[in-house]
Amino acid sequence: MYPEDDLLPLSALQHLLFCPRRAALIYLEQLWADNLATIEGAQLHAKADSGGASEIVGEVRVARGLRLRSLRLGLSGIADVVEFQRPGGSRSPPSGLAVGVELPGAHGLWTSFPIEYKRGRLRREQGYEVQLCAQALCLEEMLGVHVPAGALFYGKTRRRSEVLFTPGLRQQTEDAARRLHELVAAGRTPAAEASKKCESCSLKDLCLPRTCGRGRSARRYLARELESA
Ligand code: SF4
Repeated sequence: MYPEDDLLPLSALQHLLFCPRRAALIYLEQLWADNLATIEGAQLHAKADSGGASEIVGEVRVARGLRLRSLRLGLSGIADVVEFQRPGGSRSPPSGLAVGVELPGAHGLWTSFPIEYKRGRLRREQGYEVQLCAQALCLEEMLGVHVPAGALFYGKTRRRSEVLFTPGLRQQTEDAARRLHELVAAGRTPAAEASKKCESCSLKDLCLPRTCGRGRSARRYLARELESA
């Protein structure tokens, strides 16, 4: 269990899985730069949170901007949306977890279904699914309920894609949380590994992946720059 002071942001998992150096630049070196994708993403999250804290849509109760945390994983953050739905199906939850939670002013039990907003079109990204699964693990720890599935909502197409929280995805999420804490505890920014994804990384101009890559000597780089000045 992590103390509350050591909790790291849920959203850092996505950066870590995209590139560990990106996570270190943001969370160790406090660097940040926007590009079109990050600006559009921030606008989408702001829109998701702007619809009021909660509402009832038919048989579904919608909570927005719900604060989450897991002391076991050492993570905290905010869920864009959590839908509380009537339990369906007959599968029993894993031991120690309830099938649903009681809500104030409502009868019966309600299951939790987290939804994370993402810009662009539907695409499979491990970081997105891990971040969403981390929200589910937070809800399970906080509410004591089983959270079997959630969804990614894509702003461009306004479509959701359901994500099942399988044992494999849960394991990947726990591994990513552990690696994130190890990265922060080590306090060292990994060397850059230039790849195609650097083109879409908003930190490219701060990271300098072609000059700060693994095996690249900063001394030789400086000497080259001074020679050409
Ligand atoms: S530019 Fe490339 S190496 Fe640098 S942080 Fe971004 S993805 Fe990682």
